[in-house]
Amino acid sequence: MASNRDDFKAKTIDIMAKRVGYRCSNPNCRKLTCGANDDPENYSNIGVAAHICAAAPGGKRYDTNMTSAERKDIQNGIWLCQSCSKLIDSDDIRYTVDLLHKWKQLSEEAAILELESASPAQNTEQDISLIKFYVQCFDRPAFQDDIRQEGRMEDFDRAIEDTIIALNTGVLRTRDGDIIKQADGKAFVQNPEWREKLYNVVDILTAIRRRLMIAEHDHVYSFYSDNGYDGMYCFNDRELEEWFNSSREEILKIMSSICREIGVHELRFSRRCYRW
Ligand SMILES: [Zn+2]
Repeated sequence: MASNRDDFKAKTIDIMAKRVGYRCSNPNCRKLTCGANDDPENYSNIGVAAHICAAAPGGKRYDTNMTSAERKDIQNGIWLCQSCSKLIDSDDIRYTVDLLHKWKQLSEEAAILELESASPAQNTEQDISLIKFYVQCFDRPAFQDDIRQEGRMEDFDRAIEDTIIALNTGVLRTRDGDIIKQADGKAFVQNPEWREKLYNVVDILTAIRRRLMIAEHDHVYSFYSDNGYDGMYCFNDRELEEWFNSSREEILKIMSSICREIGVHELRFSRRCYRW
């Protein structure tokens, strides 16, 4: 039976997965998509060669202007884990063609950086330069201001996301999506204690984004301003407000504990005092 889906060829799928080192291309996920199976002759795969523009009419981001050949071309594919491939098809307003191309680019970039980096027998020197790179990612208002004084919540969320990506991939994006610095992801830190702390930091950052999304959805905060742009956020859930501050304070404490060990400037959450 002839299918009207423009599916990828097996060879295309194979190359797509290998170009990102079999990791999910969502920079917030980066999950490994294959590994050993109980059957010694087999392996488990949770990776999916997802279509950026759908393979068939009715699918997400389907583009009528594309030819069948373009639809099944590797350029139109992105390697994702199963849950991220469901995620991108649940919301084509958030997960646009442009965003998915950006994910793919970042993921391929990270894979080649991993290849190019020094052999596993690493030295502390390399750990220290990675830590210095991560520390500078926290040198931004999103990690300095009281939550009530964040300029725009969208920018705050974006800054947190950029920081997660930087820690996961070693790639720091500017606000315009340019790549300005390149290092390695946290998995490359050899010191197991530091690495564990960085994983912990990413967990907290992820929790901040999740709670921010819920807070926005539940209208937990509102913005007050005298002149239309300068102003402050007011939370009707004081515990949540406090959590947004204390969780970031916690992150800076963890980072600072590493800073102390390598003798670089510690990070401090200022919590500037606001007078009504
Ligand atoms: Zn994923």
